[in-house]
Amino acid sequence: MEFPETEKQRSIFENGRFHNPWPTWKNISFLKGVSVAPKFVWNQLTSAPMVSKTELENEHPVLKPDVKILENPPTDKIQFVWIGHATFLIQMEGLNILTDPVFSHRIGPVSFIGQARYRKPAMTINELPKIDAIVISHDHYDHLDYNSVKSLNERYGNNLRWFIPLGRGKWLKDCGIEKVTELDWWEESDTSLKGVKFVCTPCQHWCKRNLTDTYKALAGSWCIIGQQQKFFFAGDTGYCASFKQIGYHYGPFTLAAIPIGAYEPRHFLQPQHVNPEEAISIYEDIKAKHFVPMHWGTFLLSFEPILEPPKRILEEVKRRNLTADYFHLPKLGQVTNVS
Ligand SMILES: [Zn+2]
Repeated sequence: MEFPETEKQRSIFENGRFHNPWPTWKNISFLKGVSVAPKFVWNQLTSAPMVSKTELENEHPVLKPDVKILENPPTDKIQFVWIGHATFLIQMEGLNILTDPVFSHRIGPVSFIGQARYRKPAMTINELPKIDAIVISHDHYDHLDYNSVKSLNERYGNNLRWFIPLGRGKWLKDCGIEKVTELDWWEESDTSLKGVKFVCTPCQHWCKRNLTDTYKALAGSWCIIGQQQKFFFAGDTGYCASFKQIGYHYGPFTLAAIPIGAYEPRHFLQPQHVNPEEAISIYEDIKAKHFVPMHWGTFLLSFEPILEPPKRILEEVKRRNLTADYFHLPKLGQVTNVS
C-alpha cells in the first residue's frame, strides 16, 4: 500500500509551493479549464440556481435558529447549526467554534463583482453567540472571506483564536488579527482552549487567491478533539488516501462535516471536490458516527442540479446499508444535537 493508514503523510513544499502527494490528485488543467470556462463564467454572472423560488423555499429553506438554545448548549453533546456553504457553528465542550466563516452576500477578490449567494446565511455575525475559535480550511473565496474576517475580528478581537493551515497566517495578521495559530498537516495546537485540541490534517485540494499565489498556501482539514467529543471538518477536498490515516490516528469521531456539492463536471472537478458517494467513503474512512453535509446549496460553483447532492446521499446510505439516523440533512439554521 502506497499510503499505509498507520503513517502520517507529510505536506510537500517545494520551490515555494505546496504539492498534493496523492496519486488521485491532478494539477488544474488549463485546457480542461478553458473547455468549462464559459459555463462557469455564466454561473458567476447570473448566480441563478435554475429552480423555482417555491421549490427552493420548500426544499431548501433558511430557518432562524433560536438564539436562547445557542446560548445554553448541552455540555455532553455536540450542538451544531449549518449557517451556509462550509460555515458551521459548532458547540462542544464549552467552546463555540466557527468553520470557514463566510457571511458576505458576494464572494470574490472585489466585493461587488464576486459570485452572489442564492441562500442567505442563517445567522449574521451580530446574531452569533460568543465565539472562541475559528478554523479555516484554505484560502479560496468561498471559504476565506475578507469582509467576514474583518467583521469577526471587530466583534471578538483577542477573545477569539484563529486556526489556519501553513501559508496564510500572515494574511490573517494583516487583517489585524493577533491570535493566529498556523499549523502544518498533523500539527496539534496546545490545549489552552478548555482542554480541546485542534489538529490540522490533510485533504486533497489547493490554494489560490490571486494570479501569482497558486499553491503557495496549504489546504487542510481539521480534527477538533475534546475530552468526550470529537469533530472532523473536512474543508474542501477530493477523495484521497489521507482519510484512512486520519481515521487511524484520530478516529472515531462523534460528528463529521463533509462536502457533498460542486462535483460536476467530474473530468474537471473530481481531484478537488468529492461527490456525495465519495463523501460517504470519507465518513467511513475517518470512522465517524454522525454525518452532516456541507458545501452545497449556497453558491453556484459547478454544473450539477443544486438540489441533487442530498438526494444522492440518501440513496447511497440505502445502497451501503448504513444507519440512516446518523445522516443528518439539516435545514440552514436548524439546531441539531448529537452524541
Ligand atoms: Zn470550496
